Amino acid sequence: MTTPACSFCGKPQAEALRLVAGPQAFICDECAMLAVQMISIQHPTWRERLMRTLALLPDRPREKS
Ligand SMILES: [Zn+2]
Repeated sequence: MTTPACSFCGKPQAEALRLVAGPQAFICDECAMLAVQMISIQHPTWRERLMRTLALLPDRPREKS
């Protein structure tokens, strides 16, 4: 099995801050950011929803101790 890499830019998991896995593909943090930018530009209401969603997120993931 090959090492996971971003399906959009080809960045390997080791070089990406975060690689999000889908059933047939991966997307890295930078490509996800780019996608968010492109959708936000065309769909202001989507961006408002995104901002509301982000506001609900904790600052950092809860760590299991
Ligand atoms: Zn990428």
